[in-house]
Amino acid sequence: MGVPISQMWTVATYVLSQKLRGRKRYPLVLMLEPLFRCNLACAGCGKIQYPAHILKQQLTPEQCFKAVDECGAPMVSIPGGEPLLHPQIKEIVEGLVARKKYIYLCTNALLLKEKIDLFTPSKYLTFSVHMDGEREHHDFSVCREGGFDIAIEGVKEAVKRGFRVTTNTTLFDGADPVSVRRFFDQMMELGVEGMMLSPGYSYEKAPDQQHFLGKAKTRKLFSLILSNRNQKWHFNQSPLFLEFLMGRRSYECTPWGMPTYNIFGWQKPCYLLQDGYADTFAELLQSTQWQNYGAESGNPKCANCMVHSGYEASAVNDTFSSIRGLLATARATLFGGSYANSSASEELQTSAGAAGGSSHGPVVPLKVSATPIKQREKVSV
Ligand code: SF4
Repeated sequence: MGVPISQMWTVATYVLSQKLRGRKRYPLVLMLEPLFRCNLACAGCGKIQYPAHILKQQLTPEQCFKAVDECGAPMVSIPGGEPLLHPQIKEIVEGLVARKKYIYLCTNALLLKEKIDLFTPSKYLTFSVHMDGEREHHDFSVCREGGFDIAIEGVKEAVKRGFRVTTNTTLFDGADPVSVRRFFDQMMELGVEGMMLSPGYSYEKAPDQQHFLGKAKTRKLFSLILSNRNQKWHFNQSPLFLEFLMGRRSYECTPWGMPTYNIFGWQKPCYLLQDGYADTFAELLQSTQWQNYGAESGNPKCANCMVHSGYEASAVNDTFSSIRGLLATARATLFGGSYANSSASEELQTSAGAAGGSSHGPVVPLKVSATPIKQREKVSV
C-alpha cells in the first residue's frame, strides 16, 4: 500500500469535514515554494528561468508557517527550486511537523546524503525524489550526467535511515513505456514507499517546448505504462487520478485543490499559471476568476493540461462525492488490480522488439535554451 493508513485517515476526515461544512472550494495540498533557486537546470522546468535577483530570494520560516496556517490543507508539498538549498529548510520542516502536516519535500536528491542529518524520520515527512526514468533518460531529462546515480545514493541512504521516501516522475513526449515500467521495478526494489507520476506541463518559460504531451498522447502513454500492472508497484497518489491519466475517467480541473504560495504571494490560479497574485489565501479564493480555467473554459493554456496539481484533487474529491467514488477508490487501494489490457501488452512487446531488445528505446534529448538569463522573460513582482 502506497499511502499510510494514518495519512489516509487524516485526508479522509479533512475532506469529509469540508463537505459537511458545505465548502465548494477547499485546499488539499499546499504547494509551498520557499525558493526558485536550483542546482539543476532541467529543460522541462518553468521555475528556474527567473532573473538572478528573483532566484536569490526565499521565504522565511515564518512566512511559510503563516501560509500553512492560513491555508489549512492537511498536506504540504515543498517543491522549488531545490528546497535543500534553502538555508533554513530544517526549521521549516520542523515547524510543519510540529503542526502535524504531511510534508512532501520534493528534491532532486543531489544534496540529500549531505543534508540528511538535518532531518529526523517522522510519519509526517516524506522525501519525494525527482526521478524521471532509467539512468540515461533521467540524466537527459535533468541535463546532468551522473544525476541518476547520485539520486539513487540519496534514496538508499534515506530508506536506510528509516525516512519515508517516494519518487516523483514527470513524463514527456518520447518517454518509452517499456523503460518506464522497468524503472518502476527498479524503484520498488530500492524500498521506496510508493511512486508519483504526472505528465509534464508546457510551461511558456521552459527551454524545451517540443516534447510536451497532448491529452490523447498522455492517455495512450499512461495506458501503456499502467495497464497490466506489476502487483509490486505502489503509487503514492489517488488511484482514480491514475485512472484519469489512463483515459478511464474524465475530470475537470480543481486548481484551488493545490494552491501555490511563493515569494510573490498566492499564485493565481494554480501551480502552473501566473495570472497574478493574492496577498492572502482568502483573497485568492475570492478574487480568482475560476471559471476562466480548466479544459471546459476553453482557455488554451489549460487545453492539454492533465497534471497532478490540477487534477489529483479532483480525483480525491470524486472519492468522497459518491458511494461509487468511494468504492472505486477502496477497490483500487485495497485490492490493487492489474488493469489487464491485451492490446497494451501487445503494443509493449512490439515496442520492446522495435528497440532491438535493448534496454529501452531512443531517448529524446531535451534541449536547453542558450538564451542568456538577462534576456529571458522578466517577472513583475
Ligand atoms: S487545467 Fe492545468 S493549467 Fe489550467 S488551471 Fe488547471 S492546473 Fe492550471
